[in-house]
Amino acid sequence: MKTTDAFAGLECVDCGGVFDVDGSQQCPDCGGALDPTYDYDAIDLDRDTLESRPFDSQWRYEELLPFPRESAVTTNEGATALVDCPDLAAELGVERVLIKDDGRNPTGSTTDRGQSVALTAASQRGATDVALATTGNGGQAAAAYAGRAGLESHAYVPSRSSFTTKAMVNVHGGDMNVVGGRYDDAVGAYEEGLAEHESWHSVHPFHTPYRHEGAKTTLYEIVEQLEWSVPDAIAYPTGVGVGLVGAYKAATELRELGLVDELPGLYAAQAEGCAPIVEAFDAGRDAHEPVETPDTICGEIEIANPPASSRLLEALRETGGGAVATEDRDILAAAVQVAQHEGLEMAPSPAAAASGVWELAERGEFDGDETVVIVNTASGNKEGDVLRSHLMSQGV
Ligand SMILES: [Zn+2]
Repeated sequence: MKTTDAFAGLECVDCGGVFDVDGSQQCPDCGGALDPTYDYDAIDLDRDTLESRPFDSQWRYEELLPFPRESAVTTNEGATALVDCPDLAAELGVERVLIKDDGRNPTGSTTDRGQSVALTAASQRGATDVALATTGNGGQAAAAYAGRAGLESHAYVPSRSSFTTKAMVNVHGGDMNVVGGRYDDAVGAYEEGLAEHESWHSVHPFHTPYRHEGAKTTLYEIVEQLEWSVPDAIAYPTGVGVGLVGAYKAATELRELGLVDELPGLYAAQAEGCAPIVEAFDAGRDAHEPVETPDTICGEIEIANPPASSRLLEALRETGGGAVATEDRDILAAAVQVAQHEGLEMAPSPAAAASGVWELAERGEFDGDETVVIVNTASGNKEGDVLRSHLMSQGV
């Protein structure tokens, strides 16, 4: 496989073993998740070098990714807008609020970043088929990038996932398996499928080392777009937690390289009907306890049993961030308010981050001079029906 110069292999997050990129996607010794690792001393990147590159794709950060841009399976994902929201800043009583609009990615969600890297790896390894369980967006992205790479994709999707994402898996030529029940049922079906098909290659979060690796680039972009000033708070809608784990790694890398001095406070935003990370954070635990009966309109983040919860909780604590959950009706109201006052379209699940920031402001988390970034992980277009039904419930 063709890898970048500083890439040093895949490190097990549990036992610390480092393994070759051509081997298993999970630790051969203990079964733990693997994480791409780099020789940071060998990376010579400064602010001027990055600023001199066109802002055209996440692959402009190729030194901090495992594979070179020339080998990437890419549709120029990333390089999304960071939009000032002055009305929101005034309402929340902080200096500045910006929305990182990752809904502008090619398939309408931030998952394009990780699937670009994961499909690059799969393609280079000569895989013929990729598979995952997904609440929807990740499956749509997998189908798109697999199609581009000439691979078959197999997505296991809970029946409740949005019509649009399921339709687009089909449109991209993916094999879609709708599983009755919720996300955990889809994961079970995916694991059975994987066991039955030796040739299938996983692009499931934290089964592949590369989904969160691609997600790092959102954070790089935010900091560069703010001219290397680190925001005080970044709120991520949080289900499996790929975005947050990637953001934490990215922030520590920028500090390691001397590009910034501080880490941003990272916040996990969830829906009250399924908030295992918030519950664990508030209780001071190092890992989550599964939610027995998850129930939220935010299907993309309805993850009752997030596999990387200890890494998520570490990210929140080590950055001085936090965790916040809000009710579905407040989340939908936040999406509508952002649409009506800022002109931006957030799907229900990412609106949990907007709603969460509102809640943090009401709790007095901010002093007034902060810069706060809300990550919009998916376009409102994907679930316009859900947003509109909220209006109708309000009698509009
Ligand atoms: Zn291990």
